[in-house]
Amino acid sequence: GRTNDVVYSVASLPRHLVPLLRYWWHSAPERHRRISQSYAAIIALAANEHAALIPEAGADPLVRRSGYRSLHRTEAALEEAAAVVDMLASEYGVRARVIGQAELAAAEPALTETGAGAVHWLDPWTVSEPGALVSAYADLFTRCGGTLFNGDAATLKPAAGGGFEVRCRDGRIDAEAAVVALGPWSPDLLRRFGYRFPMVRKRGYHRHFDGGKKLHLPLQDPAFGYVLAPMAKGLRVTTGAELSGRQGSLRPIQLDRAEIAARGLLDLGAAVEAEPWSGVRPCMPDMLPVVGAAPRHKGLWMNFGHGHQGLTLGPATGRLLAECMAGEQPFVDASAFSPARY
Ligand SMILES: Cc1cc2nc3c(=O)[nH]c(=O)nc-3n(C[C@H](O)[C@H](O)[C@H](O)COP(=O)(O)OP(=O)(O)OC[C@H]3O[C@@H](n4cnc5c(N)ncnc54)[C@H](O)[C@@H]3O)c2cc1C
Repeated sequence: GRTNDVVYSVASLPRHLVPLLRYWWHSAPERHRRISQSYAAIIALAANEHAALIPEAGADPLVRRSGYRSLHRTEAALEEAAAVVDMLASEYGVRARVIGQAELAAAEPALTETGAGAVHWLDPWTVSEPGALVSAYADLFTRCGGTLFNGDAATLKPAAGGGFEVRCRDGRIDAEAAVVALGPWSPDLLRRFGYRFPMVRKRGYHRHFDGGKKLHLPLQDPAFGYVLAPMAKGLRVTTGAELSGRQGSLRPIQLDRAEIAARGLLDLGAAVEAEPWSGVRPCMPDMLPVVGAAPRHKGLWMNFGHGHQGLTLGPATGRLLAECMAGEQPFVDASAFSPARY
């Protein structure tokens, strides 16, 4: 709460207290190191899984493969970041380059403030329209023979003759197996089946700005806890984590602060939307997604809790789940992600 990365309202803290305490417990250095190794194993394969789908889905124009930058406003902050770059390179093979103020200014001429320079993270891919990417994948799924139904997942229940049933707009569907993949809504549904999953729900906001200057690559501004990204609708300002009530804050204070900070870096132009968008990042206390079989219900499977990186991880955890369901050898060790750990 001391910086703009994370804010909370005291009134909503009781809702977050137990998951947060477990989050803190898992943040102890040795536990965090083990978690990072499990996370690294799957995140390292995430872009490959997208790579297999992107051309098939005709989504190449949506994807940039040139990384993103983190701006550091002072020499001390840049030096600290350089030490993290060295650590991540030696422990996890993450590729990044520390660039000075002049190189940053040349790469992003729109910036009127370049601080001490930046870290250019070279490996990440970024997307100009995440919703369009997901729609392209959904179209690919139907072209490959899949069928999409709309319905209320809360109607999911064990079927009389075995398996599961769920109500859809087009009627009832019976299936041998069901996957609960409802992001932040998953624990609520699973409670009805007797499972209690603690979850840290981190709300984030974004808003687009247009009519000002443009950036070539997304730019993180860690001093003010937000990201500026060139998107199809304009420059998007995205905030960090708000530990709020179910509906979020009425006045997204992090977004207000981020907008002021961003206006100090470049000409942002005017807001595109009258109201900002907000969504919830479904974070598990041990920071790993929940992927695998429900411990006490044959045929019930889970795939949720992807936290800050659900778009990135979707194809990888989808493949992992499919391999577990088909009884195949999983392409990464599935044990760290097992629902049975809760
Ligand atoms: C501000 C912000 C920025 C983010 N940035 C990134 C990023 O840069 N990269 C990245 O990889 N990830 C990012 N994420 C995280 C990412 O959005 C999530 O991890 C991801 O959406 C989780 O996917 P999911 O399918 O599990 O859940 P969701 O995307 O939340 O989908 C769950 C779906 O279930 C539906 N649903 C709920 N209840 C029912 C019901 N009863 N019946 C039927 N349907 C129901 C909901 O409507 C929803 O469509 C960001 C999140 C936020 C909030």
